[in-house]
Amino acid sequence: MFEKVLIANRGEIALRIHRACREMGIHTVAVHSTADADAMHVRLADESVCIGPPPSKDSYLNIPAILTAAAITGADAIHPGIGFMSENAAFAEMVEQHGFTFIGPTPEHIRIMGDKVTAKQTVKAQGLPTVPGSDGALKDLDDAKKVAAKIGYPILIKASAGGGGKGMKVARDAAALEDAWNLARGEARAAFGNDEVYMEKYLEKPRHIEVQLLGDTHGNAVHFGERDCSIQRRHQKVIEEAPSPGLNASERTEIGELAADVIRKIGYRGVGTIEFLYENGKFYFIEMNTRLQIEHTITEMVTGIDLVREQIRVAAGLPMSYTQKEITFTGHAIECRINAENPETFTPSPGKIAGYHPPGGLDVRVDSALYDGYRVPPHYDSMIAKLVVHGSNRNEALLRLRRSLEEFVIGGIDTTLPLHRRIIAEPDFINGDYDIHWLEKFLARKG
Ligand code: ADP
Repeated sequence: MFEKVLIANRGEIALRIHRACREMGIHTVAVHSTADADAMHVRLADESVCIGPPPSKDSYLNIPAILTAAAITGADAIHPGIGFMSENAAFAEMVEQHGFTFIGPTPEHIRIMGDKVTAKQTVKAQGLPTVPGSDGALKDLDDAKKVAAKIGYPILIKASAGGGGKGMKVARDAAALEDAWNLARGEARAAFGNDEVYMEKYLEKPRHIEVQLLGDTHGNAVHFGERDCSIQRRHQKVIEEAPSPGLNASERTEIGELAADVIRKIGYRGVGTIEFLYENGKFYFIEMNTRLQIEHTITEMVTGIDLVREQIRVAAGLPMSYTQKEITFTGHAIECRINAENPETFTPSPGKIAGYHPPGGLDVRVDSALYDGYRVPPHYDSMIAKLVVHGSNRNEALLRLRRSLEEFVIGGIDTTLPLHRRIIAEPDFINGDYDIHWLEKFLARKG
């Protein structure tokens, strides 16, 4: 096992990884920008290294600085966390070339799944159903017109290099296609430096269902059930729950086994998630994330398994600790992502925390790097806390979530806590009756 792990990330996820390492007896090295000198992940780690000024490109994305920090502290492995370098195949390669272990999949798997066109072709060849659409990247606008006529409107143009919902545009009819084509390509070029796009049929009422997976270097691959992440705004997840209120037990087992089979066949190592849209009883693959996900917490709550510990174990070459049979599911878990944003306009709200009181009690988990007096910097992602609750059934989880949201105090800045309180009071949410477009419609309705 590793003796020292460098955590190449910040905020709550850096803390989450630190906690797993601590419990495994592994020393941790935090890295931070000058804006994060007082951050909790820096305070709790055994050692810390400043890797640059506030902008991410000069610090958390600064490969030479991260590798130097690992070398001078004598770390044996680097955990990339979520976002930043976590799906950068070139980084994973450089980490290995410099003699450290990358806590994640092989660079080759990151590369295959990072290009959505290649990913789709790869999983299709392994037997996963995909959304009807273009066979690979679109050549030009004419090609786009032809494919759209074949699959029928509405269609969605998506960036091959996509992520975070960027470079995705809907066209409801032929007249709207050219605009969608130009907008999606422009956004993709700006966000990823790559304007290759492809086309999918736009599904009108799907749920977003994803399967948590783990593979090791001994040929084992398992699934940890599904998460329903349909409550989204601008293609970004806001609330997640496990299990999905929209699936039955046999659908759950079937999709889990199908997904685990794919990663077994491709020899995948590490944690990963295969994401599907689910409509009228059918699953359609949309992408694979080759890293830990923010919402891994709800899977941990229903399985009782520390996924970060398993991730570190398999990166160290050990076999995973569980067989598929030993992974069992108890009760229901829900996560709310709390952002430093105005709950109505969604304008970012960085600044100093004045008063902090997280909820507690049975089956309540708060993953956050906040503390009273902490200053939320304006440079990074606006998510500042994850509230996760577990209950013996969905109703109990909902009641626990409601009282936890009532208790939660984050003063001094705007947060999305009031939005979560509103969503979970809605009959549709209480009944589990929602799809990926529900939240946007709710926000438009309530103004
Ligand atoms: P990203 O990598 O940018 O997150 P995804 O392919 O995972 O992109 O899609 C993100 C979200 O966009 C999905 O959860 C879903 O809400 C929506 N989406 C993606 N593909 C489709 C589709 N074919 N039809 C309708 N919505 C879609």
